[in-house]
Amino acid sequence: MVVKVLVELSNKNIDRTFDYIVPKTLENDIKIGIRVKVPFAHQELEGFVLEISNCSEYNDLKEIIDVVDNDIILNKELLELGKYMQSTLLCTLISCYQAMLPKALKAKNGVNIGKKIDTYLTLSNIPFTKITTKQAEVINFVKTNGRVLKKEANLISTSSVKTLLKNGVLIEECEEVYRLKHDSDKCQKHELTCCQQDAVDKVMSSENKSDVFLIHGVTGSGKTEIYMEIIENMLKKGKSSIMLVPEISLTEQIVSRFKKRFTSDIAILHSRLSEGEKYDEWRRIAKGEVKIVIGARSAVFAPLSNIGVIIIDEEHTDSYKQDSANPKYHALDIAKWRSSYGSFPVVLGSATPTLESYARSEKGLYTLITLDKRVNGQNLPETIIVDMNKEMKRKSGSFSKKLVESMEDTFSRGEQVILLLNRRGYSSFITCKNCGYVSKCPNCDITLTYHKSSNTLRCHYCGYGTKLDVKCPNCHEEAISTLGLGTEKVEEELNKMFPDKKVIRMDYDTTSKKGSHEKIINAFQNHEYDILLGTQMIAKGLDFPNVTLVGVINADTSLNIPDFRSSETTFDLLCQVAGRSGRGDKKGKVLIQTFNPEHYAITYAKNHDYLGFYKQEMSIRRTLGYSPYYFLTSIKISSKDYEEARDISNKIGVYLKKNLLKTVVLGPSVAAVFRINNVYRFQIVLKYKKEDNLYKTLNDLIEHYKTNNNIKIDIDFNPIHI
Ligand code: ADP
Ligand code: ZN
Repeated sequence: MVVKVLVELSNKNIDRTFDYIVPKTLENDIKIGIRVKVPFAHQELEGFVLEISNCSEYNDLKEIIDVVDNDIILNKELLELGKYMQSTLLCTLISCYQAMLPKALKAKNGVNIGKKIDTYLTLSNIPFTKITTKQAEVINFVKTNGRVLKKEANLISTSSVKTLLKNGVLIEECEEVYRLKHDSDKCQKHELTCCQQDAVDKVMSSENKSDVFLIHGVTGSGKTEIYMEIIENMLKKGKSSIMLVPEISLTEQIVSRFKKRFTSDIAILHSRLSEGEKYDEWRRIAKGEVKIVIGARSAVFAPLSNIGVIIIDEEHTDSYKQDSANPKYHALDIAKWRSSYGSFPVVLGSATPTLESYARSEKGLYTLITLDKRVNGQNLPETIIVDMNKEMKRKSGSFSKKLVESMEDTFSRGEQVILLLNRRGYSSFITCKNCGYVSKCPNCDITLTYHKSSNTLRCHYCGYGTKLDVKCPNCHEEAISTLGLGTEKVEEELNKMFPDKKVIRMDYDTTSKKGSHEKIINAFQNHEYDILLGTQMIAKGLDFPNVTLVGVINADTSLNIPDFRSSETTFDLLCQVAGRSGRGDKKGKVLIQTFNPEHYAITYAKNHDYLGFYKQEMSIRRTLGYSPYYFLTSIKISSKDYEEARDISNKIGVYLKKNLLKTVVLGPSVAAVFRINNVYRFQIVLKYKKEDNLYKTLNDLIEHYKTNNNIKIDIDFNPIHI
């Protein structure tokens, strides 16, 4: 028997299978999709069996060393999916398979996580004579409980347990346990409104078709309830479901609604699980022990069988696109592929769909379902724009008079406030008041961010960190000051303005510990705090009925980043955060502080007018030739050698212009962050409507440079940001 093995080594040069002979003793264990250990150029590597055959075109084959696991890791569907990803994303096949699996199943990470086993003891029928008092105590313990954990019996006497096992009085049984416990308090489900039922019916009528639905529903219109009903319908038909959420820890409340409704049928995959917990959850899914998977981006690869639906909540969220590592896939493309493989619908939901998705629904490629009313019958909150150009002349600090007054009003009614500090594109950097020196990362072209709690400056790209020194390294005056507006600084201001009100902060620093999101949310829910102050992470999914005022401290920061999606991200953020106000039966209000009160992203958000925004933004995208009118592809060329990076980038630019006649080739130019960790980066952007030559040209390019280890070429199709 011969197997074709794809080894776990992500190198363009060896991205193909190698043939190995299977020794007779292992033949029975070999299946397609399992992992094996093989000799490979003087080392031992793990790899996946992709094919089994009787012969090979090569001579002198080596033997596989062992089988790593008995279970199939990559089923037929995932094996196919990997090939699709490789051919459309132009990355290595092994990187595609690795992206589908939890870390614990990747050899090269060296994480060695096994199943967690509990050992139990029971009594046998073997009669016992001549026993010690301790042994009698152990026997008694087992007898009264029927079956006990060995480690508990060991507490009485380890040596007695050992002896009793040896002479057969006790029997040992091993059982696998999962690390993650799932609670099981069932929750009441709501009677659906007509609109909700209608949406459910539409999706269910496409049960065996690979249709895509776009649910465009304002915040609070009952989308989550619709998802749950669809999933329950699928469950009744014996089908499984995947639901993607932007980031589990940010959607704690939604996830707990699902947990309560579906109890043991559900597996949760998220970044805060330990590797062991992830591994267990993954295997519960693979073994068919669960029917519902909720998770962030990579949960789209969940090895479920008989899928009925894949739902993508908050589909406009950019974390659905992997943009830092290869393969740079979008979860939506993977969902669509699986949907046509398995013939089932995909459901997208958002209050602010991406322009791309909404345009597809206008073209009839997706079925649009619109929900324009909140379930509770409340209007969307009244929104007021505060022109900070006028405010700042009167008063300094981050709070306008209007916002302070509205907060006082809210507190006087015993209600709560959420404040958003828009951090996107913003960094609280430090500068010297004497000479203007700004501290930068020594490895990257980026200013360092000040972290007050640790009094350090940190680079968010490479992780470099240093203590803050008030003495300027340039002019040696003690004039370093922290500029800008971090959540900590705003918190200080709040404490001064409202000394008797309690503020809780939710940002990167306060949520880095496991479970800290949950704690903050619960404490705020229980009204232990009056103000929730946070960054982007408070904008999504939270549902607090007692919050009637949302204040946006600085709407502009995300408008100012040089990116063609900056208006869209700002509009989305404002709509999302506004949606946190007035969700119960009380009327809600939103205050947006801005220096650009006339900007369309802000005025349309004020009026909750998605369609108005959509039309205006589409016409801008058309004029400037951006997505969704044009496809974009970004090519990054990087090297530690500045001249080599520059020269090769120029060559590639010429090559692309010659071969892609229907494409606009922009660049090469230096990348947004030119130097990261001392690697120089150039970028070329391709813009096209239809380009038949694209894949061949890019493939040839990769082929050409694959043996040059100094240069890295990274291709990103439909990048989120450029
Ligand atoms: P969305 O996901 O669109 O923001 P949700 O599904 O979270 O909306 O619904 C908003 C609120 O209304 C939630 O508190 C939810 O429990 C409640 N809700 C949803 N559907 C119904 C219904 N049919 N009857 C009563 N309450 C509902
Ligand atoms: Zn750095």
